[in-house]
Amino acid sequence: MFREGDWVLIVHGERKFLRRIDPKDSINVRKDVLRFRDVIGKEGGDRVGNFYLFKPTLEDIILYGFKRETQIVYPKDSFYIALKIGAVRGKRVLEFGTGSGAMCAVLASAGSEVHTFEIRERFFKLAKKNLERFGLEGEVHFYREDFATAEVKVEEFDCAFVDVRDPLPYLEKVYACLKKGSPVCFLLPTTNQVASLLASARGLFGDFEVKEILVREYN
Ligand code: SAM
Repeated sequence: MFREGDWVLIVHGERKFLRRIDPKDSINVRKDVLRFRDVIGKEGGDRVGNFYLFKPTLEDIILYGFKRETQIVYPKDSFYIALKIGAVRGKRVLEFGTGSGAMCAVLASAGSEVHTFEIRERFFKLAKKNLERFGLEGEVHFYREDFATAEVKVEEFDCAFVDVRDPLPYLEKVYACLKKGSPVCFLLPTTNQVASLLASARGLFGDFEVKEILVREYN
């Protein structure tokens, strides 16, 4: 049942909103009004007038609840990456940069212990706040640090995820702090960057995959 202070996903036709339930609040869509006091006591899947109410999923939280001030990793990619690198319970994951925390939230929700580095104070605070607002901070250790100078131990991590503009300067450091044979994912927006990364990473890493994930929506 929804209670005051809970998050609710509100669906009205094609539009979706993620809101915290405050009995004094309401939402207007076209000519329809949803008073939040009428949401209290309802369950996920219930309907009030033309509004459907749902408990938000992790994807809803990232897409409609997180404040974004950086490019983020979208759930279509992040869900796949988290399982692909094996970021599950009992694993220690290295991430940099944290950005808005969208990827970090997925790594944490998969149950792993995340050590995430963000060079900029503003994004460090934003990511922390985004995860804390939705109770997703679990096993996350946030560092306001440049990964280049961060103190990490040799073979400390079980896997890694890297999302910075130019990952090339960090390849050897990433390799050194990963346990031998562990997976790492680099997110790169252009094929030129992929080519440069592959050229530099050969000799360090032993098995490569380059992928782009396309999702086709049907009406
Ligand atoms: N993956 C994040 C998400 O899903 O929200 C978005 C990451 S954003 C595209 C890239 C971030 O890397 C920026 O916030 C930037 O400040 C940070 N960054 C760049 N170089 C860094 C470094 N050397 N160490 C730590 N963070 C760095």
